[in-house]
Amino acid sequence: MDTVECVVIGAGVVGLATARALALTGREVVVLEAEDHIGSGVSSRNSEVIHAGIYYPQGSLKARLCVQGRDALYAYCTERHLPHARCGKLIVATDAAQLPELQRLQQAGMANGVDDLAWLTADQAQALEPALACVGALLSPSTGIVDSHALMLSLQGEAEAAGAMIAFLTRVTAMEVRPEGVAITTGEDGDPSLLARLVVNCAGLSAPGLAAATEGLSPTDQATPHFAKGSYFTLTGRSPFSRLIYPTPEPGGLGVHLTLDLGGQAKFGPDVEWVDRPDYDVDPRRAERFYGAVRRYWPDLPDGALVPGYAGVRPKISGPGQPAADFRIHPLGTARSGMIHLYGIESPGLTASLAIADHVVDLARGLANA
Ligand SMILES: Cc1cc2nc3c(=O)[nH]c(=O)nc-3n(C[C@H](O)[C@H](O)[C@H](O)COP(=O)(O)OP(=O)(O)OC[C@H]3O[C@@H](n4cnc5c(N)ncnc54)[C@H](O)[C@@H]3O)c2cc1C
Repeated sequence: MDTVECVVIGAGVVGLATARALALTGREVVVLEAEDHIGSGVSSRNSEVIHAGIYYPQGSLKARLCVQGRDALYAYCTERHLPHARCGKLIVATDAAQLPELQRLQQAGMANGVDDLAWLTADQAQALEPALACVGALLSPSTGIVDSHALMLSLQGEAEAAGAMIAFLTRVTAMEVRPEGVAITTGEDGDPSLLARLVVNCAGLSAPGLAAATEGLSPTDQATPHFAKGSYFTLTGRSPFSRLIYPTPEPGGLGVHLTLDLGGQAKFGPDVEWVDRPDYDVDPRRAERFYGAVRRYWPDLPDGALVPGYAGVRPKISGPGQPAADFRIHPLGTARSGMIHLYGIESPGLTASLAIADHVVDLARGLANA
């Protein structure tokens, strides 16, 4: 059996950022990726928004790592000239009953260190975005967008330059915690082929399933997966908005919002649909609900302007009706045989990816000193 210091499972944005950060500390790192290219999971099916850090409970990992990750991501993209834009966003109340929720969001944001939120009257919001209908809005100037593929390519290049190796088409099927390391089985042959001192499970939607396939892992070290699909519809024609537009949040997601890509193309979504297993079909019939939701803040949305776009699936660890879970980044084991499982890395995981990676390096240091 080959021995390696660190194995990272999954070459999504979090796995790549983690591999880079571990390799930059001088560790030997191998990334095992089931598919034949980077970013084939959740990291390719999201809104590409750099979140400011407004929505998450004070003191949560999501709040801390989003704010740290946002700043790190802007700096990373600026230094490397990666495509991104600090375009700003408006969170809008479309009737007076939503204004208290907007105020609560402003306070939550401030508690998390998002200190640039500005309260706008309807007139002030419409002066910025004339097509908008609202009774009040919060302006978040530090929200932006990023080209997630350019980011992942850059992370891959820097991880490899620091010595990390990526093995594609290598699906981890089982693991076993042994005193001398974590034995890893790939493919269907049944025998472990790799022994790692540290395994970081960044398998996104499959992370809880992979933990369940690990011998010697107690139920308290595992998480229950839930899948919340989000469909997007693309706007045909030019966007009348130059900022991202979000309604007040809905249970399970942030509401059907308008985001822009770096070419100015607008899309709406994602909505929330709880599913038993990931699937990426967009049901054109869902458009009906989108028209209703969007017209609350953009009454002039023309009939027939929305076409099915794509879908993503949120890797949740809390189910419908349960309070939203925090990121769960769970270290266990010893310096010789340690694992760090990353559960529930849904939004703002893209924004937070560099900060999550630093957090994993800290946890790995903690395991090494345990
Ligand atoms: C609809 C939607 C919208 C979102 N919008 C935003 C946003 O605007 N801003 C933001 O900050 N975040 C957003 N997110 C969250 C963000 O996309 C994720 O947090 C992030 O992409 C997670 O990255 P990851 O590397 O953990 O997972 P993934 O990208 O899913 O990577 C996991 C990798 O592991 C591999 N893998 C799985 N199982 C195995 C195995 N057994 N062996 C080997 N490899 C395996 C997969 O092939 C995959 O490549 C959104 C998420 C969704 C679903």
